[in-house]
Amino acid sequence: MGQDVSLWTTPAPDALRVTPETTVAALDTRSTPGFTGDKKAGELLLVERGAVLSALQEKLYANGRSGDTRSVLLVLQGMDTSGKGGIVRHVIGQVDPQGVDHASFGVPTAEEKAHHYLWRIKNALPKGGQMGVFDRSHYEEVLVVRVHNLVPAEVWSTRYDEINAFEKELADSGTTIVKCAMFVSLDEQKARLTERLERPDKYWKFNPNDIDERLLWPAYQEAYQAVLDKTSTEHAPWHVIPADRKWFSRLAITELLIDALERLQLDWPPPDFDIEHEKQRLARA
Ligand code: AMP
Ligand code: MG
Repeated sequence: MGQDVSLWTTPAPDALRVTPETTVAALDTRSTPGFTGDKKAGELLLVERGAVLSALQEKLYANGRSGDTRSVLLVLQGMDTSGKGGIVRHVIGQVDPQGVDHASFGVPTAEEKAHHYLWRIKNALPKGGQMGVFDRSHYEEVLVVRVHNLVPAEVWSTRYDEINAFEKELADSGTTIVKCAMFVSLDEQKARLTERLERPDKYWKFNPNDIDERLLWPAYQEAYQAVLDKTSTEHAPWHVIPADRKWFSRLAITELLIDALERLQLDWPPPDFDIEHEKQRLARA
């Protein structure tokens, strides 16, 4: 029996898309917008929709091999423990790794610092036929940079427009941009950080700095609000992903990627050889 996609009463892209009313400080991070199923139903549906995602991604990859220059780019932003790594593992992990261009962005290296902040981003963009995934992104330039005053306000405040222009150019050149801001509650973050300090298999995920960033929660909420207000555009809209329930964030982002790929209306690339001729040659070989 197939799982029921109609458990989505509103399609994920519509249910999650940022609106002018979206208020970061008021988000219900345990909610499951648009989806009426429970955890069990969500997990079962993820398996089925993962297969759909994988089939679509294979078509994108096949077309890329035939010269199609289009690509999809998933941009993941969120505070520590919001589940960005889990999306890479459990959502992107559902597709053929050959077709995935993954990049994560941490504190810039000396070489990166010597260039414009978009330099490292441009170097990591997905090639034609690839599904790119950014674990953090150019948005750090108006999040951590803003919260810690790493550059003066006169500098970071110009970046929203610059980022919009950059993304417009990217979209016009054939990259479908899927931006996801993942939000956990302060309590859920504490529970996840606690687990990272209690389980030997999770120590590696803990960074003492996460506690310092946690103390700046209101400033980060303000910075995220500005990102959603200023950089959710027609060509690259933001989606708000409530992330206290991991099963929901994974299902939701799977749906957003399926939607992005379906909008490309991909077909299998036609052969660039004469099938009958090749069959005859093979029969004799
Ligand atoms: P993680 O994603 O847990 O590996 O952490 C990466 C860290 O790098 C986070 O604390 C980010 O805020 C930080 N980071 C990413 N980009 C920048 C940037 N442009 N400037 C300063 N810190 C950054
Ligand atoms: Mg971290």
